Amino acid sequence: MEHADPAEVERPDADDLALDGNAAAGELESLFGPGATVSLATCAHCGTEQAVARLGTWSRGPGLVLRCCACGRVAIRLVRAPTVLHLDLNGVTRLRIPSGGR
Ligand SMILES: [Zn+2]
Repeated sequence: MEHADPAEVERPDADDLALDGNAAAGELESLFGPGATVSLATCAHCGTEQAVARLGTWSRGPGLVLRCCACGRVAIRLVRAPTVLHLDLNGVTRLRIPSGGR
């Protein structure tokens, strides 16, 4: 019996749907300010801290899905509807956003 690599199972099947985290920059900056894409996200699944711009982004479907670059699991889901923005940060335990303070 074959054992699938769990990391592979969690990934979307088509890599060509992957964008980089900067693809989500506009949406994230509208929420968190201009430092959003250089902010650091800690993965809730594997604990890896990485720049939001490094999160793999998939745009198929009604919104954006950002995945951990280490384990491939979902970090952030973002869906903009006409009257509401849905933001799911369930896959992130911490988001460190530069505030630009001096
Ligand atoms: Zn992870």
